[in-house]
Amino acid sequence: MKLKEILDKTTAFFKDKKIETPRLDAELLLSHGLKLDRIQLYLRFDQPMKEDELAVLRELVRRRASGEPVAYILGYRDFFKYRFEVNSSVLIPRPETEHIIEEVLSWAKTSENKMGILDLGSGSGCIGLSLLKEFPHARLVSVDMSEQALAVAQRNAQALEVSDRVRFVHADAAQWEVVLSAYKEWTGQDKVDVLVSNPPYIAIEDPQVEENVRKFEPSMALFAEDKGLALLKSWSQLYGSHLNTPGLMLMEMGMGQGAAMREHFQNLKIFNEINVIKDLSGHDRVIRGVTHG
Ligand code: GLN
Repeated sequence: MKLKEILDKTTAFFKDKKIETPRLDAELLLSHGLKLDRIQLYLRFDQPMKEDELAVLRELVRRRASGEPVAYILGYRDFFKYRFEVNSSVLIPRPETEHIIEEVLSWAKTSENKMGILDLGSGSGCIGLSLLKEFPHARLVSVDMSEQALAVAQRNAQALEVSDRVRFVHADAAQWEVVLSAYKEWTGQDKVDVLVSNPPYIAIEDPQVEENVRKFEPSMALFAEDKGLALLKSWSQLYGSHLNTPGLMLMEMGMGQGAAMREHFQNLKIFNEINVIKDLSGHDRVIRGVTHG
């Protein structure tokens, strides 16, 4: 069979399996399996496939058809400007999380900013490590309770050549004393300039969670008590009084959590500005609190 026929057959099979982007997924998996760029697939449409190549492709197609996300099969996902290694112990970076990066960029004004950044529940490291790339004088403390996730983030830091500016802390973010003492040691500062987090914020019983998200992504990274608000509330409270002036706190949240989080941020009585930032679909996505110096 020729490459073009395999691609068409795979696309039709994925369509049948109700996969949302059947052609794209087929191209990504085939180019990955054949170690080609996606564009090269088109140049080799008439190439006959060897049996050993077919065996590799069959396995990739089988995994995707069972619902496994493409990012886990490929072992990476692009986020913001960079490529991040991922595996099943980290949440797959989502484009809406890039709003956090954009907000830090507009708050910090200049890339010369020497800010200290704290990323709580850092997963693949996509938020904090992207920020280190944008701010060459910044330092980061990256916190996660999953050792496997920290290992992934560590490899991402190496690949992005920012390892010398990040300290990884294996802790539950609720252990604020452990986290803040690491932060002080690493940055030489008592207060946090920029706190970023994409905490687990999905209500445990939320019926809208896609089946394959529930099945393949780490539940530790997804779900929280109190209608999903538990960690958003407790982490912002624990770290709020340790935020610098001027300082910035940005937390990703779910649609419909904006009003509750705005009220919670108001009750903390530390911020001069509070905003609910919406994503491109118009849903509440990030809660932003700013302290003025
Ligand atoms: N900070 C990581 C991300 O944004 C992980 C978030 C999480 O696991 N909840 O992708």
